[in-house]
Amino acid sequence: MAEWLCGGLQNRSREFDSLSPLHGDRMKVFNTLTRKKEELIPINGNKINLFVCGPTVYDNSHIGHARTYVSFDVVVKYLRSKGFDVTYLQNITDIDDKIIIRAKESGKKPSELAKEFAEKYFEDMKKLGVDSVNKYAFATHYMKEIIEQVRSLLEKGFAYEIEDGIYFDLSKFKEYGELSGRKALESEDAVSRIDDSVNKRNKGDFCLWKKSKLGEPSWDSPWGKGRPGWHIEDTAITGKEFGPQYDIHGGARDLMFPHHEAEIAQMESISGKKPMVRYWMHSGFLNVDNQKMSKSLGNFITIRQALEKYDSQTLRFFFISTHYKSPINYTKESLEVSKKSLERIQIFVDSLKDVDGKEMFSIQGFKKRFEEAMDDDFNTPNALAAIFDLVRDANRLISKGLLSKKSAEEMLGEFKRIDKMFSILKEKKETPEEIKKMVKEREEARKNKDFKKADEIREKIKSKGWVVEDSDSGPKTRKK
Ligand code: AMP
Repeated sequence: MAEWLCGGLQNRSREFDSLSPLHGDRMKVFNTLTRKKEELIPINGNKINLFVCGPTVYDNSHIGHARTYVSFDVVVKYLRSKGFDVTYLQNITDIDDKIIIRAKESGKKPSELAKEFAEKYFEDMKKLGVDSVNKYAFATHYMKEIIEQVRSLLEKGFAYEIEDGIYFDLSKFKEYGELSGRKALESEDAVSRIDDSVNKRNKGDFCLWKKSKLGEPSWDSPWGKGRPGWHIEDTAITGKEFGPQYDIHGGARDLMFPHHEAEIAQMESISGKKPMVRYWMHSGFLNVDNQKMSKSLGNFITIRQALEKYDSQTLRFFFISTHYKSPINYTKESLEVSKKSLERIQIFVDSLKDVDGKEMFSIQGFKKRFEEAMDDDFNTPNALAAIFDLVRDANRLISKGLLSKKSAEEMLGEFKRIDKMFSILKEKKETPEEIKKMVKEREEARKNKDFKKADEIREKIKSKGWVVEDSDSGPKTRKK
């Protein structure tokens, strides 16, 4: 079992190729590390330890965060539906330069500011239906483990101390850059958070422990007062919760370098066990109107702002309409298209509750197609395509009043199961008596060929937030 737990890492891809499935599962996951789709084989039976990089809580979370966290919410829920026992862990970065700067600007303590925005983040996730995380781990709650990891890296010769902090010596870790395909000494092109210090041994050396500056939050350590570097927080958390090796690590692709490379360097140097993580999953970036989201461009959209315009079902549908690995472009038009497309599914599901025909309709083909799509690296767009084909085919029977109640119930059961992962549907609202009465009056008017009156009643129904639609089997109402 799990041969990959031991042995060198000269050729990670070859090592992974030699694995044989534990229980013949067909689930495939694209692994950034090997750049291949691989069969998902947990280290330990059907137990999966999964970690996703959480937010740095210094501001309201934005729709890029929402994209990443909805994607992993669906991933985790699907894995659970397949019988995997997933422990989903996420860190909360509650100490960081950005938090300190923002706290200063707003006259708050960094810890107060971090607490405020962590709570707002949890509220946003709840509103978005992201409820699959087992544990949110605050970095500042892991100071003992952080200090222990820094100490171990110093002791083993992977780290060195200079006047402003303790740094990881990249010349000691040859595999640095393997995940992202970058070389250690090219790291001046880093996209984010490479620590600057003139006395570093190598350009890309990153900070493990920052020595205290006046007025900044600090913790006691063997090297005096200070605070952790960003990358060490995550390995301290996963080391404590999962141990030195675990199954899946996720995050958006901006974090691949240097953050995830640094995590690998730290943990593999400490434990000597390689690889730290079996599967690396990276979600694509979200852009707004084809541009990177930024406050200076005025295209920065928080989750709160997005939820004022669209409900969480529409936002989730929009996110899962694109494969999690691909970039996604947030535009007014694409959100409107999502809203319309989702409405088709919702109307269909609502109509299933009223059918009373005789014809059976098998959904076996649909179920197979849906599962094949999701098993193939969580291909949600293909899974949605299968749903739309089912809607089209079954609607042909529904519009003629032919679909049997039994088939409709089976479909409803399947949609309920799917929606536990996707969370894109709403409970059908019962049509109020007042609306039912108006629909009846409209039917009378239509029978009497008084189309003017029928149209007037339709408008009146609309003004009350309901829509009436005619079909071969009679008028149908739904909430607008
Ligand atoms: P941060 O708060 O910037 O550390 O980001 C927290 C998580 O959100 C990380 O997994 C990031 O990769 C992800 N993330 C940040 N910005 C975006 C974006 N525009 N699109 C998708 N994911 C993002």
